[in-house]
Amino acid sequence: MSIPERVDLGAPPEVYRIARRLQSAGFDAWAVGGGVRDALAGNPPGDWDLTTSARPGDVRAIFRRTVPIGIEHGTIGVLGKDGKLYEVTTFRRDVETFGRKARVAFSDTLEEDLERRDFTINAVAWHPTTGEVRDPHGGAADLRDGVLRTVGDPEARFKEDRLRVLRALRFAGRFSLGIDPRTWAAMRASAAELGALSAERVREELYKVLALRQPSAALRLYRDSGVLASLYPELEACVGVDDPGGGGEVWSHLIEATDATARGDTPLRLAALVHDVGKGAAQPGDGFAEHAGVGAALAREMLRRLKASNADTDRVVHLVAQHADLPGERASDADFRRWLRRVGPSHYRDLFRLRIADCRARHADAQALLASYRTAHRVLSERPPLDIGDLAIGGAELRALGIPPGPRFGEILRQLLERVTEDPSLNTPERLAELAVEMKGE
Ligand code: ATP
Ligand code: MG
Repeated sequence: MSIPERVDLGAPPEVYRIARRLQSAGFDAWAVGGGVRDALAGNPPGDWDLTTSARPGDVRAIFRRTVPIGIEHGTIGVLGKDGKLYEVTTFRRDVETFGRKARVAFSDTLEEDLERRDFTINAVAWHPTTGEVRDPHGGAADLRDGVLRTVGDPEARFKEDRLRVLRALRFAGRFSLGIDPRTWAAMRASAAELGALSAERVREELYKVLALRQPSAALRLYRDSGVLASLYPELEACVGVDDPGGGGEVWSHLIEATDATARGDTPLRLAALVHDVGKGAAQPGDGFAEHAGVGAALAREMLRRLKASNADTDRVVHLVAQHADLPGERASDADFRRWLRRVGPSHYRDLFRLRIADCRARHADAQALLASYRTAHRVLSERPPLDIGDLAIGGAELRALGIPPGPRFGEILRQLLERVTEDPSLNTPERLAELAVEMKGE
């Protein structure tokens, strides 16, 4: 008999304490899943989850502060002394598997619980108190050797739950894993079936990819596996399209621009991923002059399909629509103010960030853009009037000047805004009143 490997994975103190408490109550308890995988890979782990022979009722009796997160699946949240919630889930086995409606039953063995997990790297259990690693599927070795493979028969496992195809692409990209040939063949065969997944699950996976340090690795695999063609045809249409204006192939440019956008702002990264999607829809000979507007419409359609929030959709669509049209180095301050009015002062940073990422992805010099960015910042810091509400006079003053409410009234306010955009020093009650009287006579 081989001696089990014993390691300390350096989990947060609460993981050891929760495991000890379960064990002293007579139950088996292991850390498993993403936390163990990340620690073995030398990455800072995200969440630590525990799996136990204790039933949900036992877990609630043992710990004072619990939250019934998914009690029907056997998951209880235990609130740690560090203020974090640790998921403690009863050992499970699959009874009947069909997509996300898989029926599960509680089990008494860790081995059965590991059997139903998706990939070998996600099916390694670690015993916090003894340091024992229980790894019947060889996940630690796969992680070390850089291989992603399913637990059990890949075709059957992907048929049970097609979301696993997307998870596989994400883990392979995140940990630079090669995909085992049988697993890969089954993924490719599954690609065409992914349309049956719910929009929410597909979108959540995309957002998780966009939150990786380097999304391009997983996104390349989306393309190579056929998943891009199946779920994101508008992006697939950018594959092989050359941009004569620089940047090379549009698809490669999109994923490189995504990498070049700051991690942590997922909608901004999403905007980078789709910013040139309009180029994929252009017919040969069209040129790309209309690509921003076409791209904005395609982005809106894609985000509607993904059931993205209105806030994310509006932000991404707006950035795509406006990204091609930033004021250049020689633009006047008035040009900048007109531009700020058009794009909205709350979006100007995003637009520059997007364009700087775009520029870096082309390996071009961003100096001119940075200079424009500074100008925009300065112009805005002068607090110029950018909308009718910023004018030094309003409706009451116009009425006092004998201008009755009506279409002309609104027209005069708009003309006044044009004038102060050109020259903000005009924005005083006296000057605007004079101008309004002149306009009234016209
Ligand atoms: P991360 O949280 O970093 O995305 P993770 O591996 O922790 O990665 P979770 O979705 O938090 O992923 O799931 C926790 C564990 O549950 C996984 O490690 C895996 O063992 C199992 N699991 C999750 N989703 C599935 C699935 N669709 N099929 C089978 N097992 C799954
Ligand atoms: Mg997790």
